Amino acid sequence: MNPPHEPYRYEMLIDGRWIEARDGRRYGRESPAHDVAVGDYPLAGADDADLAVAAARRAFDEGPWPHTRGAERARFLGRVAELIRAQAEELAYIEALESGKPIVQARGEMESAAGLWEYAAALTRQLHGDSYNTLGADMLGLMLREPIGVVGMITPWNFPLLIISQKLPFALAAGCTAVVKPSELTPGTTLRLGHILQEAGLPDGVVNIVTGDGVPVGARLAEHPAVDMLSFTGSTEVGRHVVAASAGNLKRVALELGGKNPQIVFADADLDAALDAIVFGVYFNAGECCNSGSRLLVQRDIAADLREAIVQRSRSVPVGDPLDEATKVGAIVNQEQLDKILGYVAAGQQEGAALRLGGGCLPTERGRFVEPTVFDAVTPAMSIAREEVFGPVLSIITFEDAAEAVRIANDTMYGLSAAVWTRDVDTAFGVGRGVRAGTIWINTFMDGYPELSFGGYNQSGLGRELGRFGIEEFTELKTIQLHLGPRTNWWHRPGVNDNGHVERVSPAES
Ligand code: NDP
Repeated sequence: MNPPHEPYRYEMLIDGRWIEARDGRRYGRESPAHDVAVGDYPLAGADDADLAVAAARRAFDEGPWPHTRGAERARFLGRVAELIRAQAEELAYIEALESGKPIVQARGEMESAAGLWEYAAALTRQLHGDSYNTLGADMLGLMLREPIGVVGMITPWNFPLLIISQKLPFALAAGCTAVVKPSELTPGTTLRLGHILQEAGLPDGVVNIVTGDGVPVGARLAEHPAVDMLSFTGSTEVGRHVVAASAGNLKRVALELGGKNPQIVFADADLDAALDAIVFGVYFNAGECCNSGSRLLVQRDIAADLREAIVQRSRSVPVGDPLDEATKVGAIVNQEQLDKILGYVAAGQQEGAALRLGGGCLPTERGRFVEPTVFDAVTPAMSIAREEVFGPVLSIITFEDAAEAVRIANDTMYGLSAAVWTRDVDTAFGVGRGVRAGTIWINTFMDGYPELSFGGYNQSGLGRELGRFGIEEFTELKTIQLHLGPRTNWWHRPGVNDNGHVERVSPAES
């Protein structure tokens, strides 16, 4: 496969129409692996974001979508899944070009994205509230789940179609409308998704897609008074900004943020299986992954042997052209990210960690590729043990026993995920319950299922995506109290109950 001769040219979607930015500005994207232009997009401003929000607001307040029957919404979401599958090859190609990820991996992500739309389709008809028939013969209590309204969605560059598919189908299933801002680096497949949504029959204005920079477009969505909820995936630093910006109308904020995820390997583990998962866990997506297993905590007795095995295995991981079917690790997304990774490698060496492998760039003529990199003698205080490197860089830390492993694992501001490798069920569950993270894998790493919710503890996030909670996140609960039959309790009714005695005090008055 080769990169295209001409870049793909895109418009953005507002109120059912494919349009340019109001001031006509555009920007381009080069493939980080090939240094050739692969995409050309409208560069939106805050006023374009305003137009998109107004369209989503109208579609919610006046449109049919929030009131469409679940069965119909389910059919729509199912059609989107089919169309993603039908176009998977081209979508994967676009993602490999824009992000630098291997085409083989991108194909897998397109299939996973389709699976999420399919799962949300099934959930649509399951969404329900609650009822209370225990409040007395004259009272029925109902809890209704209603769509929260207009949702702003901001996504990062590392898994573009997959991450929007963790949000959008669930919001649509709940009856919400949306304005989506993909990362400026990788908006291609999200814009393609816009065409798919139209082909599947989505009414105008229900989903709007605006391309441009985090500031002003994302920032405008975060602060916008007509946006009811913001669903953000990205760095913890920008997550803090969007929380602050959202305060004006106290919108609901859901955050999927960064991680510094430990894989904890005990001496009794299946070390062959652990070895494969360690190498996969840190080099997958070139380490540009919120779930990256960038911290390896290994029991001291086996540390030296395991380190040697990791170094040997890492030498043979195929790094290179993402369009080559054999490639497992592709290019780094841009120069800024490359500089950040190399900065962490330098910091690791300065702070006293031992560089056992890699640490530099591959000597290629085009593109940016970082060698698989392994540090050991890392201590929990070092920056490579605490901060998200977002590159193919492993930090090995040793521990004595389970208590120490849990202590080190929790010594971070993050809490996204962790893995435990052991054959002992007490150790597995003890450590799994002790580590404060949203997902724990036991004797496996980075599996994901639409059925299982995902999200972070601590500063790795707020709220949960996927699973049945994934749809509930996009709903409000409304309580309805329905009085049945003639009123029997009177607060004050001259002639009937005039002794001044209050017979019923409502919770609001108490
Ligand atoms: P960023 O936080 O830099 O950006 C994420 C999105 O926010 C982009 O669309 C960006 O726009 C936008 N943005 C930037 N500034 C603002 C702002 N002030 N207000 C509103 N929006 C803004 O993250 P990256 O794109 O660099 O992605 C990497 C990060 O994402 C890592 O920390 C990673 O751990 C995290 N992540 C978390 C996941 C999870 O599920 N927990 C999954 C995947 C990634 P633009 O870039 O176009 O300017």
